[in-house]
Amino acid sequence: METVDTLVVGAGISGLAAARLLVRGGHRVVVLEARDRVGGRVFTDRSGGHVTDRGASWIHGITDSPVADAARAFGMPMVEFTVGGYQPDSRPLAYFDARGRRLDVDAVAGYAADIRALNATLTRVIGDAEPDATYADVVERALALQDWDAERRERVREYNDRRAQEQYGIGMAELGAHGLDDDTVDGDEVVFPRGYDELATNLAVGLDVRLGHVVSRVERSAAGVVVDTDRGTFVAREAVVTVPVGVLHAGGLVIEPPLPQPHRRALGLLRMNAFEKVVLRFAERFWDAGVYGIRQLGDEGEWWHSWYDLGRLHDEPALLTFAAGPAAVATREWSDERIIASTMVQLRRLYGDGVPDPTSAIVTRWQDDPFSRGSYAYMLPGSVGADHDELATPVDGVLHLAGEATWGDDPATVPGALLSGHRAAQNVLAREIPVSDLWA
Ligand SMILES: Cc1cc2nc3c(=O)[nH]c(=O)nc-3n(C[C@H](O)[C@H](O)[C@H](O)COP(=O)(O)OP(=O)(O)OC[C@H]3O[C@@H](n4cnc5c(N)ncnc54)[C@H](O)[C@@H]3O)c2cc1C
Repeated sequence: METVDTLVVGAGISGLAAARLLVRGGHRVVVLEARDRVGGRVFTDRSGGHVTDRGASWIHGITDSPVADAARAFGMPMVEFTVGGYQPDSRPLAYFDARGRRLDVDAVAGYAADIRALNATLTRVIGDAEPDATYADVVERALALQDWDAERRERVREYNDRRAQEQYGIGMAELGAHGLDDDTVDGDEVVFPRGYDELATNLAVGLDVRLGHVVSRVERSAAGVVVDTDRGTFVAREAVVTVPVGVLHAGGLVIEPPLPQPHRRALGLLRMNAFEKVVLRFAERFWDAGVYGIRQLGDEGEWWHSWYDLGRLHDEPALLTFAAGPAAVATREWSDERIIASTMVQLRRLYGDGVPDPTSAIVTRWQDDPFSRGSYAYMLPGSVGADHDELATPVDGVLHLAGEATWGDDPATVPGALLSGHRAAQNVLAREIPVSDLWA
């Protein structure tokens, strides 16, 4: 049985951030990580000579972003790619209507203006909504206030559903009305051509990370915590637990005694989503030049409606699309080949039968990953942003939950994860620490 000052469960960005600050604060820290790598949902695949981020890709706005500051300090190159927030026209996109015809500049401008008009109304409608309203309810109410014909309403309704799918991996009929409150982009968005995992590997330098340690139980008492793993038991004065809410819901990691009622209530209002990436690489480029991405409007785009040109990151013809929400659920049991073929049907509808098969492809399987059980958490009807932070309230002075789902201002993101780790370290050390200590 090994004894340290603080145990950190999970070597994702939140756990690494907490551990780094605690070590800096003079604590003896062990990080217990189930996988054979650090980074968690920040995971760069370098197979076949390509760099593919299978988990997080974007910083959704670099203004005042601690992740952008850390990346600069760690010397991580970044490339501007401002479409990750599902904006309608922040950068050029090739739009196709339901019949596969390209929208002209004026049509795109009109569509984007409608979306902004609805958003302006939506903020007030969400503020007035009853607690258990869904995002679909508030969108419908905001649409009813517009003096638009059925087609304009349908396009904006569809946009909001697809935005919910791409941002939170869930259709708008199942998302809480407040589920996109945090979804703002401040400044340019960027991605990492050398891989987002450099953030994790830099944060992990000098830490005692025990890979391949699956934690099954965290027991607390006034004296501290006892943590059981498949490779032995660890003891500490305090523990920071950063596993995704999907792992807590599944019960593979048991917390004893059970979490207090406010924590259980908040946890009950969060669910892991269904959100997968499909990356296709081609021998040559066949799509529009000069655009950041491609979008298909109408029913034909029910699943594969948005494509992002990864040529911005690397000098190779490659597209990224998402199985987001219903598409990820429906295709979960499909083989990679069947999923890829389904995406190709859609690409050939837009660019013709001459579109070649991809030379290689990557399909992620976060729903089946036992250490995440989905990609990130979304809010059920009845929840508000502050429910996330409720989870981070220290329990009996010895147990601290952290991770993306515990950061109400910017949940479901890498910055949220990092800041939640910073908060947990401050709570353990009982003093304020500049977040820049992470990279100073
Ligand atoms: C496909 C996808 C796309 C995304 N896109 C973006 C994006 O573009 N921008 C963005 O900001 N965010 C994005 N995210 C979300 C972002 O990746 C996460 O919010 C963030 O990485 C979560 O960090 P974390 O430390 O909270 O959790 P994690 O990274 O999940 O870390 C928790 C760690 O706990 C470990 N663990 C789990 N169970 C156990 C156990 N029983 N015992 C021991 N260890 C355990 C896990 O292996 C993991 O390493 C995306 C995520 C996915 C999956």
